[in-house]
Amino acid sequence: MLKGKRALITGSTSGIGLAIAGELAAQGCNIILNGFGEKSAIDALCQEMAGKYHVEVTFEGVDLTNPGDIEAMAARVIKNLGGIDILVNNAGVQFVSPIESFPTNKWDQIIALDLSAAFHTVRLFLPAMREKKWGRIINIASAHALVASPFKSAYVAAKHGIGGLTKVVALEAAESGITCNAICPGYVHTPLIDAQIDDTAKARSISRESVIRDVMLGPQATKRFVETKEISGFVSFLCSDAAASITGALLPIDGGWTSH
Ligand code: NAD
Repeated sequence: MLKGKRALITGSTSGIGLAIAGELAAQGCNIILNGFGEKSAIDALCQEMAGKYHVEVTFEGVDLTNPGDIEAMAARVIKNLGGIDILVNNAGVQFVSPIESFPTNKWDQIIALDLSAAFHTVRLFLPAMREKKWGRIINIASAHALVASPFKSAYVAAKHGIGGLTKVVALEAAESGITCNAICPGYVHTPLIDAQIDDTAKARSISRESVIRDVMLGPQATKRFVETKEISGFVSFLCSDAAASITGALLPIDGGWTSH
């Protein structure tokens, strides 16, 4: 369906981003992976994905909290590969703490990665998409782009911010055949969430089991984690021609969480 298109998925060495990269590769897309990890594991991942789906898979290991590195990556990708057709802003980190003791360096890191990195990738890759008169920008936001939880000041601020950015980009790019949407997942069991269980238990003075049952799955009416394939399948649909009129939308995949 997406044969010959090229997609950059940020934060795609793990979790949701990795599932999205696999799904887009399965649809025939050439893939640019990004994120952190062991070089040997990433080399193996690139080879495996390229071999399985018969697509080109390259890797950009830039730290997206550094705007200069994002600029260098965009220049390389545009020069060597002719730009991208699909941009998935997925890389993100989380930190859980009451605001009075929230470390200021964690605030800066979360705003830089979960919000500002998307501003930079969009501003740098949009011109080439406009030239092709086709593009798909998908921001992996969160249910926390729609509602708040205590102890997540930076994350909720960044995710609400990316919701606003999504709408602005959608309006600016709409007449160029480019859509921009945000997906707002509920809890998905990835390494990001694993790390959060202990921090949340500490911040709320409750057990790990209670964090999973009451805090994470409590508001999800389905009482189960969202699966990565449920997000990657939807990304694939948003890239299709059938989704050409869906733009500027904040789209929950949250097991009913934000219906409360
Ligand atoms: P994850 O920890 O499994 O993966 C995060 C990815 O980002 C990894 O590839 C990591 O290497 C990369 N990364 C981290 N810092 C980076 C940096 N400075 N520069 C470049 N890459 C960096 O996380 P995940 O759960 O798959 O989360 C992916 C996205 O989905 C995040 O934006 C997160 O906020 C969002 N999200 C996750 C959940 C969930 O429950 N897991 C729910 C809603 C939204």
